[in-house]
Amino acid sequence: MIDHYGRIIDYLRISVTDLCNLRCIYCMPEEGVKKLRHGDILSVEEIEEIAAAAAALGIVKIRLTGGEPLIRGGILDIVRRVAHTPGIREVAMTTNATLLPRFARKLKDAGLTRVNISVDTMDPERYREITRGGEIEDVMRGIRAAVDVGLTPIKLNAVLMGGINEENIRPLIKMTEDADFRVRFIEVMPIGECSDWNKERFVSIEKVLDEEPALRYSGTDGVSKLYRKDGSKGSVGLISPISNHFCPACNKVRVTSDGMLKPCLHSAEEIPLRGLHGEVLIAAIRNGILNKPLKHELSRDGSESRRGMNAIGG
Ligand code: SAM
Ligand code: SF4
Repeated sequence: MIDHYGRIIDYLRISVTDLCNLRCIYCMPEEGVKKLRHGDILSVEEIEEIAAAAAALGIVKIRLTGGEPLIRGGILDIVRRVAHTPGIREVAMTTNATLLPRFARKLKDAGLTRVNISVDTMDPERYREITRGGEIEDVMRGIRAAVDVGLTPIKLNAVLMGGINEENIRPLIKMTEDADFRVRFIEVMPIGECSDWNKERFVSIEKVLDEEPALRYSGTDGVSKLYRKDGSKGSVGLISPISNHFCPACNKVRVTSDGMLKPCLHSAEEIPLRGLHGEVLIAAIRNGILNKPLKHELSRDGSESRRGMNAIGG
């Protein structure tokens, strides 16, 4: 459907859990987050109902995210039900990939279209530091599993952090040389865990072009500016939520794992969906889309959202 500002909103992200098997320094507290009671997170049936209501309003693409969606019990059932919702053409997932070797084939069979995989560095030691204990080899196995079953094209998302992974930019770009990986660098946003980080960590995405001058501009893909190295099979996307707001091109709304509709990632506004059914549920989502803010005020000083990315569903 079309919001008050003429934007076509056809994309919904649903967080299926705010828990995770990793503890990325910018996203999760070291000790993890308090587990919500089972009854406090959306059930499989509620997710299916929300997907159907959203589809009735013109949502055609759903992304399942978290937390780590692959640790959510019943994830295959969720994928299957969302994929079979009339009107939904694409069901994607954002994952850290560590559990993909076990799940990739089953996800594909359940109807998942493709995956975005978060990997901020290819360096084993740095990966362990950033994720507080993750193994890059698990991610590589996950990427291979996704390629093997055709959960493609695969976007590899890297959050750029000043003083932490700038020297890992070139090895990530190298991934695009021999295969059609779409590596996307995104500016770290001051939200949740990193809202009080030192300003030097928030470097502009232009840093990627300084590190790899051989990148040539080749157009846009949604909110990414695309670049390529001559002869590369894949591409490099630069996403700059801080230095260049892309609110006029925003086409999405989000639902948190406890059932709150968030019309804008960086706004504090949340609309409760739990307990609503049928036309009442559709009306609540319609209202949220219609009143989606024109833009947010995200800057290096912070976000207005009261939740971190693990709880909102990045
Ligand atoms: N666990 C899954 C994963 O990491 O792909 C899905 C959830 S995670 C919250 C989704 C995305 O949000 C990841 O790509 C992550 O890097 C990104 N993210 C989390 N916190 C962020 C922040 N403060 N700024 C920018 N991106 C962030
Ligand atoms: Fe987990 Fe993803 Fe957050 Fe990392 S970014 S802690 S993998 S939810």
